[in-house]
Amino acid sequence: MIPQSSPVSAYLGQRDEIDAAILRVLGSGRYILGNEVREFEREFAAAHRAGWAVGVASGTDAIEIALRVLGVGPGDGVLTVSHTAVATVAAIARIGAVPLFVDVDQARYTMSPGSLREALERTAGKARAVVAVHLYGQPAAMPEILALARAYALPVVEDCAQAHGASLDGHPVGTWGDLGCFSFYPTKNLGAFGDGGAVVGVDERHLDALRAVREYGWETRYVSRQFGVNSRLDELQAAVLRVRLAALDDDNRRRRNIADLYDEGITADCIIKPPRFPDAKHVFHQYVIQTPQRDHLQKALADHGVASLVHYPKAVHQQPAYDDESFQPVALPNTEDVVSRVLSLPMFPEMTLAQVAAVCAAVMRCLP
Ligand SMILES: *Cc1c(COP(=O)(O)O)cnc(C)c1O
Repeated sequence: MIPQSSPVSAYLGQRDEIDAAILRVLGSGRYILGNEVREFEREFAAAHRAGWAVGVASGTDAIEIALRVLGVGPGDGVLTVSHTAVATVAAIARIGAVPLFVDVDQARYTMSPGSLREALERTAGKARAVVAVHLYGQPAAMPEILALARAYALPVVEDCAQAHGASLDGHPVGTWGDLGCFSFYPTKNLGAFGDGGAVVGVDERHLDALRAVREYGWETRYVSRQFGVNSRLDELQAAVLRVRLAALDDDNRRRRNIADLYDEGITADCIIKPPRFPDAKHVFHQYVIQTPQRDHLQKALADHGVASLVHYPKAVHQQPAYDDESFQPVALPNTEDVVSRVLSLPMFPEMTLAQVAAVCAAVMRCLP
């Protein structure tokens, strides 16, 4: 079976360096917020041309903490998409804030600026922030989204959990808006071997507050001047991430190369392939095709030894926990349309050319 993703291949590809990094931490005696986290934060910020980065315990926490620091509180509305990992919305809900869903653009799969404009007009006075998601590794239309948010004086958080190293107009994701949030879940483009996350930014204004909120609200040790949580990136994951970060550009190049090969090898009118935009560097966290016969294709691919996944089988507003009508006063036709048709083919940097060719052949053979 060709797997859909393969974090173990990432480990095996850098095994000696990763083992050495882990042993270094174990012998150091320092396991929480030490040198490894500090150095990783510096290196990760530089890689995204950010001013700084703050390591936290997960991507969900990164979004929650970013929103808290930007002043979002209970009852506040947060404009975001429903076609995303449920984590984006769980982070909003954990503050007691209310997700206000905006439809996606059919081509990019990311927040539609037109739909955002309508939502801003409709929810004026209720929305306190916007969370844009760079889904599948494709940058969202940040210039348009930022212009709209600025017109309403709303801060913008970027959910970059699927877009490490992606850029738009040559500028990396994460620092277009006010704060950028990353996840290091093992299957992400930059994955740890456990949970982890980070918030990046340019403006130093939020830095102290982010560091305080991730650790009990401490201003200095044992002095909590504000509310805080426990959401620390640990030394072991940070040491692993430093090794993995050195390979990120190469890994993203391989992902883009695999996408090119899929583009060439999959040629059928009933399949819509991921669009490319000249201004955007897509990093292919997922290679997502659309077809009306999605369920049939997925099953047939499995019979031919090719694993695939649906990201995501239900939009967030279709999940039992989030189907409250107050979140979704208008229809989300593009969102509901794409969730019924998307399919993510195998995509991981260590895929061999033979595997890529086998996936292309299987797709072509399995079409109805
Ligand atoms: C993975 C992911 C998250 C959550 O990250 P965790 O580290 O699992 O908490 C948030 N948003 C998106 C778009 C994701 O893909």
